[in-house]
Amino acid sequence: MTAVTNIFRDSLLNRDDFTITFELVPGRGSGGRRLEKILSLVESAKTDGRIKAFSITDNPGGHPALSPSSLGLDIQAMGIEPLLHFSLKDKNRNMVESQLFEWYRHDLRNILALGGDYPRYGFKGQAMPVFDLDSTQLLNLIQYLRGDFAVKKGAPGQKMGLPPMDFFAGCVVSPFKTLESEQVWQYVKLLTKINNGAEFVISQLGFDMQKYKELVRFIQDQQIDIPVIANVFVPNLSVARIMNKGLVPGVLFPDTLLNIMEQEAKTSDKGEEARLIRAAKMIASLRKSGYSGVHIGGNNLHFEAISFLLDQAELFSKQTEHENIHFPQKNTWYLHEHCKNNGSRKTTFLFRSNDVIHRQFFTPKGPFFSVTKSISLTCKKNNLLRKLYTFIEHLSKKLLFRCRMCGDCTLYESNYLCPQSGCPKRMINGPCGGSIDGFCEVYPKERVCFWVRSFHNGASPDCRKFQQNKLLPPKDWALNQSSSWLNYFSGKDHNHLG
Ligand code: SF4
Repeated sequence: MTAVTNIFRDSLLNRDDFTITFELVPGRGSGGRRLEKILSLVESAKTDGRIKAFSITDNPGGHPALSPSSLGLDIQAMGIEPLLHFSLKDKNRNMVESQLFEWYRHDLRNILALGGDYPRYGFKGQAMPVFDLDSTQLLNLIQYLRGDFAVKKGAPGQKMGLPPMDFFAGCVVSPFKTLESEQVWQYVKLLTKINNGAEFVISQLGFDMQKYKELVRFIQDQQIDIPVIANVFVPNLSVARIMNKGLVPGVLFPDTLLNIMEQEAKTSDKGEEARLIRAAKMIASLRKSGYSGVHIGGNNLHFEAISFLLDQAELFSKQTEHENIHFPQKNTWYLHEHCKNNGSRKTTFLFRSNDVIHRQFFTPKGPFFSVTKSISLTCKKNNLLRKLYTFIEHLSKKLLFRCRMCGDCTLYESNYLCPQSGCPKRMINGPCGGSIDGFCEVYPKERVCFWVRSFHNGASPDCRKFQQNKLLPPKDWALNQSSSWLNYFSGKDHNHLG
């Protein structure tokens, strides 16, 4: 393995450092003024030396843009560390692996694993949402690639040993959810991500300081030693208005802050200094709260503004209290204030009846398991019986669960609701970060997030005793449109029944 200096990793793992990163958003196209401005900002940052890495978004907002690796290589050549976003909306698992090989070959080793916004605009219409892997499965793959591994028997290039790839991979989490049903899943999924190899965490952007602090305390309560970076975004008024309307997935922008910004915009600098000062106070306060660094973002920020922001943050860090930076949403659920015994929460009739059937017929200890298995395996051997069996399964599950016949059923793991038909991103290991006030990112104010429904349907995580979920592997597409019951009893699905 080649030892490569990694300023970002070294800074983040050094307890005495407070790591600063800045987010770049390359637009559509291979060049132009936007990119020139980005490169000139990076050049100034290099001379300044305080920013330890530039993170580069991957088709943000679900729109096409220059790939993060392209800009990453430019930045790397300038002597600055890139942190590349790796989103999963646009690539299947083979493309994911191929891109990881490419990035590692070019010493692009810092990765931020994320699912990504649902694809929106694209050439002659909306692009196809891929989501073949989710962020937990991507981290699991990166973990696998870190070790000495050999290509599996039967795969092309079989038994060939491959060089390990020492990526520095992190994940994202939102502490800013307003409902218990959203927030609890965020934390459960965070634990799953960390258990599958995430080495640092970056929060969603927000404006509620109590929520920022909640995330650090949650990680400390779990006795996890991992650097956490707070995402501090400096919006101008037009972006603030867009965020306030709920048009940016997973971002909550409170009315109180928007009203203040409307007033500030009447000053001669259109409120620029006021918003930089507010962000500087936030940075100083987050540093005191135990964050290992901040991830700064903002539209149209030139380097002089960033430098002013960092200078002010340094000055404010000498103060103990910072005012006018806490902007909570109304009726927000806070973990350490509102977590109660959830034993009294009722499960639905649908959950209870399905659970009885599952335990009787589909769990190895159930009284009817052996007979169900034996009938199933008999049907599997006969073409006609197999088709009839599959038809009956399809019909009953389509009526009950809007089943899509993916061939590897995870109804049990999502409280007897089907993520293949219920979640536009087909998330099987917990929700994405895109919901707002419990509504799905793809159908805002219209359709409740699948995982919020799952939370209320049946046995859901307990906020008093968090546990990571068992990672569900990606779907095996060879099973698509086949009988999941047959695949279960013959040991072909994720349960690998013996
Ligand atoms: S249903 Fe929930 S998890 Fe699925 S895409 Fe919508 S917000 Fe994300």
